Amino acid sequence: MAKQRLEGKVAIITGAASGIGEATARLFASHGATVIIADIQDELGKAVADSIGIDKCSYVHCDVTDEVQVEKAVNYAVSKHGRLDVMYSNAGIFLLSPSILELDLCDFDKVMSVNVKGTAAALKHAGRAMVAAGIRGSIICTASVAASQGGYGPAAYVTSKHAVLGLVRAAAADLGRHGIRVNSVSPSGVATPLSCGVTGMTPEEVEQITAAACNLNGAVLKAGHVAAAALFLASDESEIISGHNLVIDGGNTVVNCAPS
Ligand code: NAD
Repeated sequence: MAKQRLEGKVAIITGAASGIGEATARLFASHGATVIIADIQDELGKAVADSIGIDKCSYVHCDVTDEVQVEKAVNYAVSKHGRLDVMYSNAGIFLLSPSILELDLCDFDKVMSVNVKGTAAALKHAGRAMVAAGIRGSIICTASVAASQGGYGPAAYVTSKHAVLGLVRAAAADLGRHGIRVNSVSPSGVATPLSCGVTGMTPEEVEQITAAACNLNGAVLKAGHVAAAALFLASDESEIISGHNLVIDGGNTVVNCAPS
């Protein structure tokens, strides 16, 4: 049997009803974690949890834009399983607005609410539960290569992901004093409902584009690659790593955006 890298740990993953979050829920559970999927897509989220197994995974409805619901999800983990070791704040949305000249500020608010306020709420309430229980936990947030590039996607999304990195750095400094680690993962394009919905492309078409952009001779970035990075950051193998942003893009950023 493969080594159980998260044996005995309890993890919440927001936005795990599909895409990167779902792949991570499956991987965490296969490494011995008890996983709680927190999402707004109830049917899908329950189906994913059931397919992982009721002894390893459960689903809670949690709209991350509502702090009370995030706090309830954390309380659910602690009351049902006695502890919270890992929070993976991954829920995110991407709304199109082709140019800053056409920026829809209602959409801007929606993106900031899910991607930034939702991340802040996850950091706050997971951090509180870990501090209260004296748990040296790990909090991981999904940023994006859009967190360090101006030209990658519409302004609201780019702004929100830059803000996620700011939150991760602030929280890593703050929570480090309690032995809690905070890191982010920053993938480039992965074929998921989010990227297919935004581009109007099939998963195969998205993968063709990411393979062409990848510096590793056509390698294709999959949700499982991001899940593997999150697994490392969730596990004790990364016990000395905090405040780090792990870019997962096949080297594309350093080739195309290296500082001059
Ligand atoms: P996805 O659409 O498959 O998954 C996003 C999940 O978040 C969905 O299950 C959705 O229901 C959930 N969600 C949305 N709003 C929510 C809310 N208010 N409360 C709780 N859950 C909510 O997309 P994905 O590509 O797997 O995205 C996961 C994360 O990865 C996002 O933060 C996204 O910005 C980031 N990301 C994706 C890509 C990519 O190319 N797919 C690249 C970089 C970063």
